[in-house]
Amino acid sequence: MKSFRKELWFSVPTRRAYINITPQVEECLRESGIREGIVLCNAMHITASVFINDDEAGLHHDYDVWLEKLAPHEPVTQYHHNVGEDNADAHMKRQIMGREVVVAVTDGKLDFGTWEQIFYGEFDGCRKKRVLVKIIGE
Ligand code: ZN
Repeated sequence: MKSFRKELWFSVPTRRAYINITPQVEECLRESGIREGIVLCNAMHITASVFINDDEAGLHHDYDVWLEKLAPHEPVTQYHHNVGEDNADAHMKRQIMGREVVVAVTDGKLDFGTWEQIFYGEFDGCRKKRVLVKIIGE
């Protein structure tokens, strides 16, 4: 069995963003040489997510509005976590959007369902953060 590990780095210039990272994950898969197996892809920070859904700008806007309703950033004083920081909302947004995805690898390709793409969800940006890609198989 082969194993491949790579960290993808992101520095998002805004507080929140939704980035399609499917091309980077596909590049990892090509580098790995693995044809049959599993890809795990996870955010390495507790204020960011990796999730799978549609690459559609309207949907990403809708996610952003929905997440802001569930866990508004302001007023930052509403959260007990925000003592010396202001990112309690980002922890909650990450919780609901998830930590990681797992995708099957079949015949050297990500074995997606219809319209599925992998996204990095940033909820506390303006600094360097990482996503782990781990691929196992043969
Ligand atoms: Zn925090």
